[in-house]
Parts: sequence; structure tokens; C-alpha cells
Amino acid sequence: MNNILTMPIISLCDIIEYINDGKRCLKEGEALLNAGHVIGCGVNNQIKTEIVGLCLQTSNLKGAPHSVKIHLQSATPKGWICTCSCKAGAGGKCKHIIACLLYLYRNYLDELSCTDLEQAWGQQKKKFRIENMQPV
Ligand SMILES: [Zn+2]
Repeated sequence: MNNILTMPIISLCDIIEYINDGKRCLKEGEALLNAGHVIGCGVNNQIKTEIVGLCLQTSNLKGAPHSVKIHLQSATPKGWICTCSCKAGAGGKCKHIIACLLYLYRNYLDELSCTDLEQAWGQQKKKFRIENMQPV
């Protein structure tokens, strides 16, 4: 059995091509990522071409995080299918999705299961009690 994870690799150019004219989302997404609001981002252990991630709510950090899904089944950004549970997420280009795309660009991702994501959120909630995170 081959256990080597074939993680999808994306380039910065791909992300910019995907965003197209949504430059504001790029700026906001990067701010979210730099503020540490992306938690538990990884490769779906069931579907290897899917990236799953959680992103804290900008206006309510302690609320249930937004759930981001990025399907990279296509080699070209036009074929990516991204969704987010926030209001703007239906368009596929909200700041949470961009933050996760940038996270993927910058990090080597591990495989995650649904349970791992729940645990990531659980650990984040513990952190809130110790640190005082600021909204972006
Ligand atoms: Zn969103």
C-alpha cells in the first residue's frame, strides 16, 4: 500500500487567477491568515483532492467557525470549486476561502478527518481562555 500523501500543490499565480477581480478578498484573506484565524486546515482524508478548513468568524471569534471546502480536482484555477459556510461563501471567493488557499500555499498540509477538525476547534476554544485574540 502506498501511504505517500499526494498533496495538491497550488501556486500563488493560481490563487491570483482564481480570485480574478476580487483583490479585496485577497487582502482580507491574507489578514485573516496572518492573524491566525485559520484553524485545522488540511487534506480531507476521504477525498484527497479536497482541502477542508475552519476559519474563525471575523466579528465573533468565539462563535462556531466558518467551514471552508476547497475542491482542487482541476489543474486549472477555473475548475476549482470552493465553498464556505459564511454569507459570501456561496460565490466561492470569500475572505475565508482565500485565507485557506493562502494557508495551503504556505504550508504542508496533513490529512484530516472530521474528528480532527472538531478537535482543532476544541483546542482553539481552550486558547481563547488563555489568550485574548483580537478581531481583524
Ligand atoms: Zn467565508
